[in-house]
Amino acid sequence: MKESERKIYFDHAATTPLDEGVLEKMLPYFTARFGNADSLHSFGREAMRAVDEARDSLAALVGARPEEIYFTSGGTESDNWAVLGAARAQAKKGRPRVVISAVEHHAVLSAGERLERAGVPVVWLPVNGEGRVELTALREALSPEVGLVAVMAANNETGAVQPFRECAALAHENGSLFFADGVQAAPYMPVDVGDWGADLISLSAHKFYGPKGAGALYIRRGVKAEGLISGGEQERGLRGGTLNVPAIVGLAAAYEKNVRDMQKNNAQILAVRETFERELFARLPDAKRNGGGECLPGILNVSFKGVDNAAFLSVMDLHGVALSAGSACAAASVKPSHVLLAMGLTEEEANSSVRFSFGRNNTEEEAVRGAELAAKAAERLRGAD
Ligand code: PLP
Repeated sequence: MKESERKIYFDHAATTPLDEGVLEKMLPYFTARFGNADSLHSFGREAMRAVDEARDSLAALVGARPEEIYFTSGGTESDNWAVLGAARAQAKKGRPRVVISAVEHHAVLSAGERLERAGVPVVWLPVNGEGRVELTALREALSPEVGLVAVMAANNETGAVQPFRECAALAHENGSLFFADGVQAAPYMPVDVGDWGADLISLSAHKFYGPKGAGALYIRRGVKAEGLISGGEQERGLRGGTLNVPAIVGLAAAYEKNVRDMQKNNAQILAVRETFERELFARLPDAKRNGGGECLPGILNVSFKGVDNAAFLSVMDLHGVALSAGSACAAASVKPSHVLLAMGLTEEEANSSVRFSFGRNNTEEEAVRGAELAAKAAERLRGAD
């Protein structure tokens, strides 16, 4: 296949391919070592040994105790559990209010909306033009009734790193719990529960070359978050359901590799993004980067004035470049991103925005070719008006 025909994947914030070494570690747990981890016989004990090892490994890498790690079906479940479970437990202690940043992923946002529909007072924290929560706004939102504050570590659409450590400190001064969605940050920033200061942290394996449908929730010892899935006594009675042993093994193996190779990967990804940015903006000087300040190396959000992002995505797809708008897609239309609107962009600007997200396998050649194709597509679509 000619170089120019090779597909380019710039959608790593949506998902990453499963690492082959990780797959190898998972495979035996689908077949030969298929036991139910809760069975008492040797098949079960073998499966539970793998789960224990995965829990120990993940806990050690994030500076937690093994009993503070709960395995889930992914980032969405972990986010739902953190928000709904902690809010419900805190309400019982006379702290029913919840503070949530306006730029959270839908998994957190919709959990907050669900609380609101149940009559829980939710304060939506605004962000500045860079997409960052301002500490003054959080200070104003805090009161003795606030039980939980949720601010993600880094945003999935713009890559903006939030001042989550400072937010955790403010929440704690107020006697509130603090939850950080770490799903998008984890591929690039080491999770350290002491350093992060959060009481609850969510993770998702498929963002760091692990399997889809595998996640974890860290719940600090002594913190109460009511379980959402009732059933057996799995996960210390808080999350029923037969353990997905291959997924758990895969999550831990992928996280281990992620931490080991993080510096190298970050440097490579940043170099590719910078090349892409330089090439794109040289060809299209009026393209505008959304966000700024401290950002994850792999995410770049750009507005192309006068260009419909849905059309742009399909033209790019035709040229073999996979991207997303970074917002919820309804069948034929792309809704304006709540993140970009919260940053002060107009609907039109939001609807002309695209997210490029880079990964460890992207090359400089792809950065140059991808930028060239993006510039051409934007110019063509603009001319089509
Ligand atoms: N939180 C953030 C910040 C995300 O980016 C995502 C996925 O895009 C999720 C949560 C949901 O994770 P999952 O896809 O594992 O359900």
